Amino acid sequence: MQWPALNISLMFSVEHHMEQGQTKTNDFLPFTKPFIDEETIGAVVAVLRSGWLTGGPKVLEFERALSTYCAGRSVRTFNSATAALIAALRLAGVGVGDEVVTSPLTWVATANSVLEVGARPVFVDIEYHTRNIDLSGVADKLTPSTKALIPVDLAGLPVDRDKLQTLAHSHALLVIEDAAQSFGANWKGRPVGTGPNFVAFSFHANKNVTSGEGGALVLPDEVDLALCERLRLQGVTRYPDGTMDVTELGAKANMSDIAAAIGLGQLVHMENIYRQRAALACQYFATLRSDMGLELPLPDFEQSNWHMFQVLLPHGVSRASFIEAMRADGIGIGVHYSVVHLYSLYRKLGYGPGDFPVAEDVGSRIVTLPLFPGMRETDVNRVCFSIEKILLLLRK
Ligand SMILES: *Cc1c(COP(=O)(O)O)cnc(C)c1O
Repeated sequence: MQWPALNISLMFSVEHHMEQGQTKTNDFLPFTKPFIDEETIGAVVAVLRSGWLTGGPKVLEFERALSTYCAGRSVRTFNSATAALIAALRLAGVGVGDEVVTSPLTWVATANSVLEVGARPVFVDIEYHTRNIDLSGVADKLTPSTKALIPVDLAGLPVDRDKLQTLAHSHALLVIEDAAQSFGANWKGRPVGTGPNFVAFSFHANKNVTSGEGGALVLPDEVDLALCERLRLQGVTRYPDGTMDVTELGAKANMSDIAAAIGLGQLVHMENIYRQRAALACQYFATLRSDMGLELPLPDFEQSNWHMFQVLLPHGVSRASFIEAMRADGIGIGVHYSVVHLYSLYRKLGYGPGDFPVAEDVGSRIVTLPLFPGMRETDVNRVCFSIEKILLLLRK
């Protein structure tokens, strides 16, 4: 099984619908919705009938398929990307007293994983145009305690991997890529997951490719795979004679064959899923009026996997009122994300308002518009029409 790097171009149209996911004209339009075909449902039923529900042959098959996608690199599945990030931090030897640099505009799992191993997340502000960590700000934050850097590919737009590797080399920084949102994206034609670092993918229900809940860790060559597997499951080593030993404290974070069967069913449609997402994103660019004061995402149709289509509302427009009015029009809007450093838990670590002004500005105005396989051209038009109508009312 092999996938070419996904070079999504503007020529794809929204015509290639996936039947099961389609929305009817008057349905509530959610901001996302997984695409599950009948073959996948059949595969899950087969697992249920097999008598083997936990990690077994399907997990191994899923790991092999993921490894093929990642140019032969070792991949181990987990029950979430959070668990994969924590395992990566442990494998990298990050622990109490260490510092890990990351973005404040991410799902809280990124920073929580750092806290989980006893280390301190050190945030660096984002770039306005990509909404990803500003790598040029990292060097200033490094201390003798800095052990790792976790870049996050927000919305599936990859962080500049050339700059990332240069930075990592010049400061001997270990990199754990939080690619929870960027499975299927690429950097200059090289799929995310094929670089030299730890890479964590998520297969949560809202991600482009799902296993219901699940994650995977792509491992650097030099990593001890047996240790990775022990960290995933109670620190247990099993011997051929039926005995076992426990050598360190491991998590309980393995994937089930049920989840792996869903994941395998998704990989079959990966190309189609990305084409549809790119086509819908393309249509948003073509349909959203440019005089509404909205700030659109970077139109990267070469590298992004269009995990989300996010716009910034104009300054002065209440996001809560916007979301409420859109919902009244039958349209779901997401917020990904409010900044991590202003959550109560993180304020207790000493962070506060004004620390990362770009992320705070973006995080206070960002909204995620509906985008998922099975959405139609008419749905995009409906979203754009409602946005215009509502912004005219809310913009004073
Ligand atoms: C979804 C997500 C995670 C966590 O993934 P889980 O599988 O839910 O643990 C981590 N980081 C980012 C950026 C995410 O979007």
